[in-house]
Amino acid sequence: MIDSHTHILPNKPNKLIEEFGEEKVLLEMFSNEQKATTPEELLKSMSLSNIKKSIILGYGWTNFNLLQASNQFNLDAFKKNPSKLIPFFSINPMFKENLQEMEKCINLGGKGAGEIHPSIQELDMDNENIWKDSLKLLEENSLPIIIHASEPAGHLYPGKGNTYPENIYKFIKLFPGNTIILAHWGGGLLFYELMKEVKEISKNVYYDTAASSFLYNPKIFEIAIEIVGSEKIIFGSDFPILSPNRILEEMKNLKEQDLMNITEKNIKSILNLN
Ligand SMILES: [Zn+2]
Repeated sequence: MIDSHTHILPNKPNKLIEEFGEEKVLLEMFSNEQKATTPEELLKSMSLSNIKKSIILGYGWTNFNLLQASNQFNLDAFKKNPSKLIPFFSINPMFKENLQEMEKCINLGGKGAGEIHPSIQELDMDNENIWKDSLKLLEENSLPIIIHASEPAGHLYPGKGNTYPENIYKFIKLFPGNTIILAHWGGGLLFYELMKEVKEISKNVYYDTAASSFLYNPKIFEIAIEIVGSEKIIFGSDFPILSPNRILEEMKNLKEQDLMNITEKNIKSILNLN
């Protein structure tokens, strides 16, 4: 099994602010939590949940030095644990060194971009100009991008943001050739795949299950499979905020083939892993 949505941090949030200066991600998402989640803690949790590999994501950094440090930290963790960790790298197209940083990460083994957080990073999803070079580089290297999405309804949580299906749909239309993984069930975009044109335009879109237990009734799994098929769903926990076991428990009654697609097969085919 592969957990396709986990996060680690190079240091405790308050220490990172001391070292790098202000960072909205840390101020908004970690105001009560001053713990650094280390690769060792992740590896320990993986062995308890019988997870073979985890994708380690970055956050939607707004401070470029911290973005670089976090990318390097993920790449170093991968270097030490190449059979267990799959590094993704953060991007922020507002910085002029962004493409250079992306190329560096790709050369060092980065397998995708994300987790992008358009509202914290203040990135317009329908502004083709800010995105096009980054998305082209990802497409040329057959690498996916993971984007944080949230629901226009329901409770607030730290870092929820307002990247709703409406904005995400505009982005997908701009970049039909890119493989796009929408975190947290796409903020509900998947329900609109019942519409013919949305289904067609979202051909290269996948939905991850990160933080599902905090957001939806466990029935979401069967309903999502019925709407988009298990070929478009990717298991991710959002560790450390949710333990992989809790989501796996909610999936235990799914058909074996669906479970296999969601926990392993789909992400392996996106990343060309064997
Ligand atoms: Zn997220």
